[in-house]
Amino acid sequence: MPRPISLALAFALLASLGACATQTGRVKNTTKTFTTVVVDAGHGGKDSGAYRRSGPPEKVVTLDVAQRLERKLRESQLKTVMTRSSDVFIPLDERVGIENSQKNAIFVSIHFNDSRKRGIHGYETYYHSGASFDLANRIQSKLMTIPHSGNRGIHTANFRVLRMASYPAVLVECGFLSNRADGNQARDWEYRELLADRIAEAIVEQRYGPGVYQPSGRLALQLQPASTGPALPPATR
Ligand SMILES: [Zn+2]
Repeated sequence: MPRPISLALAFALLASLGACATQTGRVKNTTKTFTTVVVDAGHGGKDSGAYRRSGPPEKVVTLDVAQRLERKLRESQLKTVMTRSSDVFIPLDERVGIENSQKNAIFVSIHFNDSRKRGIHGYETYYHSGASFDLANRIQSKLMTIPHSGNRGIHTANFRVLRMASYPAVLVECGFLSNRADGNQARDWEYRELLADRIAEAIVEQRYGPGVYQPSGRLALQLQPASTGPALPPATR
């Protein structure tokens, strides 16, 4: 009888040691093994994020892109967790808590940018830990395949959702609402679908390698080669 109890105690001790290890801020590099993607729509509720008189506030477009991204990731057989699915305020620590309570995850936060200088436009991707660099780089590269995209590069940042993450974590700024061209595009659902598609492709490629990701819905039709009709069987000869 004493033996199973001592074993149980040993396991409990090991488990608590494990918990301590994650709390010291060590980031688990799951970029090749992750099974879950935590999709974080920036802002929400009383926090509107970037705000323009014309067009919806940042919190609306981040949620839309996040939901499109989530659907595409699920279609690619990845598990997803949304930090919010409606217009509610979620404190940053709660977002981090959702992220860090997953088993084997990465974290992708969706934002749009704002600047007093209206001429500034383009995409930026942020990360904190070295383990997040590949993912940040891949997402930024895929966004750059969008026509007329502006490359503002990848950068390290001390944002709370990145700094406190136990897993690779990135924050994507999908263009400047303060810029006329970027802002107009952000209002267009087809463009938001394209953003979600490129970010999903980067995530799937990070996990499974190139060529695995399949675009879905209307985008898939648009991306088909224009000159070819229905596929014909090869001529027999
Ligand atoms: Zn934001």
